[in-house]
Amino acid sequence: MKHVLNSCCWIVALATVSGAGAQAQDSKKQYPKQMEMEAGMSEYWVPQPEVVTIAEATSDALRPAPSDATVLFDGKDLSKWQRPDGKAAAWWVHDGIVTVDKSKGDIQTKDEYRDFQLHVEWSIPKNISGEGQGRGNSGVYLHNLYEVQILDTYGNETYVNGAAGSLYKQSPPLVNPIRKPGEWNEYDILFTAPTFTKDGRYRTPPIVTVLFNGVLVQNSTILQGTTEYIGFPRTVVKETGPILLQSHGDPSEPISFRNIWIREL
Ligand code: MG
Repeated sequence: MKHVLNSCCWIVALATVSGAGAQAQDSKKQYPKQMEMEAGMSEYWVPQPEVVTIAEATSDALRPAPSDATVLFDGKDLSKWQRPDGKAAAWWVHDGIVTVDKSKGDIQTKDEYRDFQLHVEWSIPKNISGEGQGRGNSGVYLHNLYEVQILDTYGNETYVNGAAGSLYKQSPPLVNPIRKPGEWNEYDILFTAPTFTKDGRYRTPPIVTVLFNGVLVQNSTILQGTTEYIGFPRTVVKETGPILLQSHGDPSEPISFRNIWIREL
């Protein structure tokens, strides 16, 4: 077959270089008809995408987990979570939600993830007090390194790159779609993990997209490194990591979470 193809190519090549005189002769020659393109030639049908289903939204969840998600918190227990030191997670699970216990510190998933879609619902208590960063502060840390900020920014001003929906100290949210204290907010976070060169630099940086109550607030934002409270972003060579929920040290009333799920990509 290869030999036949090569012969065809030679014929085409010779016809191309044979000059104007030869062209007049060639106009009488009958070449094989070329196949015309049809729409179906550039369409393919397999593999078909897997069907996933989404339950009807209830008062217990703004966006119920699709069938292919790993549920990290379903309102019953913290069996998928632990403290960073490996001890049992001990925040207050009640009424289908979990409330931060600031005396117990952060909690993080037992499992690690690379690229993912993460859904988290969170609520600032109705009786929240404090101001600026000291009002309902928490956060979702991707790989335990990159914080998507949680804060009550409903009528509460703070530095924009530390507002709810910011990638802390790196990228302010595009808009502020927060609901008022006592209501539930949702984050849908898409994370593409970084890759690294052998000498420990980013080959490709971490990339984050965030929908905040269904509204885009981070659009494929490129992180410069870790989200530091003080100082510059650092490059930490790690391609997988847990999801961490922050227990912030401010004295305001603790926030709550519910309906947390993840889809690995
Ligand atoms: Mg925070």
